[in-house]
Amino acid sequence: MSFTVHGLPVSQGIAIGHAHLVSHALLEVNHYQIAPRHLEAELERFDNAVASVERELLGLKAAAAAAAAQPHSEVGAFIDLQRMMLEDPVLVEAARAKIKEHHYNAEWALVQQMESVVEQFRQIEDPYLRERQADVVQVVERLVKALLGDPGPLPSKRRDGHGTIVVAHDLSPADTIGFKDHIAGFITDIGGPTSHTAIVARSLDIPAVVGLRHIRDLLRANELIIVDGTRGVAIIDPDKSVIEEYLLRRAALELERSKLKRLRDTPAATLGGEIIQLLANISGPQDMAQIKETNADGVGLFRTEFLFIDRDTLPDEDEQYEVYRSVLKAASGKPVTARTFDIGADKTLAGNTRDEPNPALGLRAVRYSLTEPKIFLAQLRALLRASAHGKLQIMIPMLAHVDEIEQTLALIEKAKEELREEKIKFDEKLPVGGMVEVPAAALALGMFVRRLDFLSIGTNDLIQYTLAVDRGNEAVVRLYDPLHPAVLKLISGTIQAAQRAELPVSICGEMAGNPAFTWLLLGMGMRSFSMHPARILEIKRQILRADLVEITPKTQRILKLDEPARIREAVEKLGV
Ligand code: PEP
Ligand code: MG
Repeated sequence: MSFTVHGLPVSQGIAIGHAHLVSHALLEVNHYQIAPRHLEAELERFDNAVASVERELLGLKAAAAAAAAQPHSEVGAFIDLQRMMLEDPVLVEAARAKIKEHHYNAEWALVQQMESVVEQFRQIEDPYLRERQADVVQVVERLVKALLGDPGPLPSKRRDGHGTIVVAHDLSPADTIGFKDHIAGFITDIGGPTSHTAIVARSLDIPAVVGLRHIRDLLRANELIIVDGTRGVAIIDPDKSVIEEYLLRRAALELERSKLKRLRDTPAATLGGEIIQLLANISGPQDMAQIKETNADGVGLFRTEFLFIDRDTLPDEDEQYEVYRSVLKAASGKPVTARTFDIGADKTLAGNTRDEPNPALGLRAVRYSLTEPKIFLAQLRALLRASAHGKLQIMIPMLAHVDEIEQTLALIEKAKEELREEKIKFDEKLPVGGMVEVPAAALALGMFVRRLDFLSIGTNDLIQYTLAVDRGNEAVVRLYDPLHPAVLKLISGTIQAAQRAELPVSICGEMAGNPAFTWLLLGMGMRSFSMHPARILEIKRQILRADLVEITPKTQRILKLDEPARIREAVEKLGV
């Protein structure tokens, strides 16, 4: 029976395909009993999984040791802890005994034993030891995944010509990247429009709807689904006529896109002739083709952390250098702003065992980098070496404290010193800038302005931290309001402070790629926008229609309003 569910539109476009249900390894293990004649084989399957996880952990440890500052880094210690758990009779031996004595299948035995061990950990008073229950869960998760094996590649096209739609409770940015070559679209139970998974979906141009609550449980494998990523709906088991209507709509969208393509070589000038810089947000060299297609003015945000996630070992300095160099080469002399890795919150490294109660407020971005100076230094050296091949700038994420910049600048200096000694070329004048994405930075900009060469406003986090709204949580998405007067004040205050200090300022959060906000941002004085490349031509079309003489005074009046409904109405009327 056909039905429609409404969620949040996070990545435009229409996809039609068959459901591929992604399961949560631990919640969905099968429970069955093993026939006596298969018992030996089941025990062998169990032992093989333990051995394979042991190998996996050893590999992770070697990678962490190669990258860590001290020989006994925290990451290494956590991996050791998990290896010890693998050898712990209370977990692994006891689970094995359950298979042998009760004939449970291996996954079931493990999950049962995990639950009883976790319960014992819960009773412990010492908070450090109590928290180790998370390690038990992670080890068992690894074992269950090893038992279930790799599901193998997804078919990108079925016999009926439709693709595959991934249906999941949640997807991490790494999962999304992993699926990218095989799927037409995805839908999830949870997630918000500026979660990194949504951002990845947009940059990969995969239609997606999130926040569909219980969709994962409502669907059967292979059911046909239409994902309308523009309206935020998923239509399950659509009638023939609905499919036809959506095929027409998809064709109309493609036509619209091809019309926009004609703007590729038109300069991004307002009606008064002011040229606006349009830059692209990228996550790796694979995105550079889109820069050529849209003729962007360069890269305003290279999210380098995507080189670090979705893999078992960290990239070393040489590997990073090659990647940065290839991005600069593809940029053909246009500027490239590389953000140092923003690990933490929803972007975690494989094998990460750090369990933080509030990861978005925890060891994230520059905070994380500064606790891993060896990994950070390797990245800075790789970036500096690459700077000899183009116009590179380095940008530091999530600054809030002055010592974060000072320590980072000192590390950059150290990297430069080493390279000079090694007689390796780099750009001595390479600009270093910072992201304004924590309200504290926007409100106390002086200390940043004095030490940095440029600023970029990260509205995704600025909104999250100003309004105390988790950007990835659909339950509070209604409160995630880019037009909140507090947010507008912080953005416009940052632009003004940068202008007074004659410091270049740009905007690289998702607001920059939303045509509903282009005139408002222009009216605040913003002249440089960085967004996912798929949005550049649409924003250019808005700029071509913008009359700054009209928009600027109207925007200044909007900034004085503090009634949300009036702000919204005035923003809609801007330029009309
Ligand atoms: C932002 O916070 O606005 C930003 C551009 O960075 P990210 O989305 O990667 O956190
Ligand atoms: Mg951010």
